[in-house]
Parts: sequence; C-alpha cells; structure tokens
Amino acid sequence: MLNLVLFGAPGAGKGTQADFLIEKLKLTHLSTGDLLRSEIAAKTELGLEAKRLIDKGFLVPDSIVIGMIKSKLLENKDANGYIFDGFPRTVEQALALDELLEENGSSVSGMLCLCVDKEELINRILSRGKTSGRADDQDVSIIRNRIKVYNEKTDPLRNYYSAQNKYHKIDGMGSVNEIAQRLIDTVATL
Ligand code: AMP
Repeated sequence: MLNLVLFGAPGAGKGTQADFLIEKLKLTHLSTGDLLRSEIAAKTELGLEAKRLIDKGFLVPDSIVIGMIKSKLLENKDANGYIFDGFPRTVEQALALDELLEENGSSVSGMLCLCVDKEELINRILSRGKTSGRADDQDVSIIRNRIKVYNEKTDPLRNYYSAQNKYHKIDGMGSVNEIAQRLIDTVATL
C-alpha cells in the first residue's frame, strides 16, 4: 500500500500536484483543508468553529482534523493507498497518523516536501485567491500568518520524517509538469 504525505508551505502547490498524483497512481486523496471547507459550506457547528480560525490563518485543533482523517480512513478501507494533503501539520497529528495506519497494518511510505521560495508562495496564494474566493487567500497579513504558523508548527515535521528516513525534498519551483515529473521520479524510489 502506497501512502504519501504531500508536504509544503501554503501555496507550495500541494493541491495541484495531489490531483496529478491521484490520477496517475490511483490513490485516494485526503485533504483536511478540503474537508474543512466542505464543513464550512454545509454550515455545520464544526465548520463554523473551524472558519473562525481558518479565516485568521490559524490551525484548527488537532483533535478535529485527526477525527476527520480517522473517519475518512474507515470510509475508504479498500483504497490502494492515500495521498495526505495538508495533513499532518503538527507532530501530534503525525503521531496520530502513524497510529491510525498501523491499526490497518500499514504505514507512511514517504513524505514529499515541495520546496518553494517565500515570495513565490505569497504570489501563488494571491493569484489563487482571485478565483478561489477564499478569505485566507486574499489578505497578505493572513497569508503571512499562515506561513509563520507553518514555520513554527509544521516545518518541524521534516525532522520527524527524516528520523524515519522518509523525508524527500522536491524542488517546487518551475512548471506544474516539471514538478510532477520530479514527484513521480521520487515515488518510483519508494
Ligand atoms: P489548506 O487548504 O491545506 O491550505 O488548509 C486551509 C486551512 O485549513 C489552514 O490554513 C488551516 O487553518 C486549516 N487546516 C487544514 N488542514 C489542517 C490541519 N491538518 N491541521 C490544522 N488545521 C488545518
């Protein structure tokens, strides 16, 4: 079973590359950002609580996203494997993911980290904001907060996966196709 963690700062291109990888590798896509936006659209209590944090660029509590991933793994038990996009984002979440996969006799195959320059991240998010309509994609101070939260809470996961020999750094600059090819080349080594 191939389980990929697609990792990178906001705007690094995780969603775009996840679409490509699920098509190519026939994996199930699990994006906590997408799941949270569905809750917001459905105006559930969880969605309303999450929206207050997301709109300011803060993380949603670990217990909420871990619970969402747990139920999606149960719903998709027969999958070939998964692409985790935007999850885990904290060490607590990474530990929970390891436990959840272990319960299924599985594990993370590799963490693919898309590396993109900071100024390019901001430009990509602002440009996506013109069509996504996402409040958190349209305000530079919120975007900067998301990147700050990423550096503080999420970036340390590189060490977490390095210690397990699962960390793979991918150059995230260049065309979508060039980056996709780098990902495929790396996945072939897992
Ligand atoms: P994304 O679409 O992955 O950029 O996620 C959008 C927002 O949803 C993030 O800025 C966080 O506020 C929230 N979010 C998504 N995934 C997580 C996660 N794994 N842990 C905590 N918050 C998350």
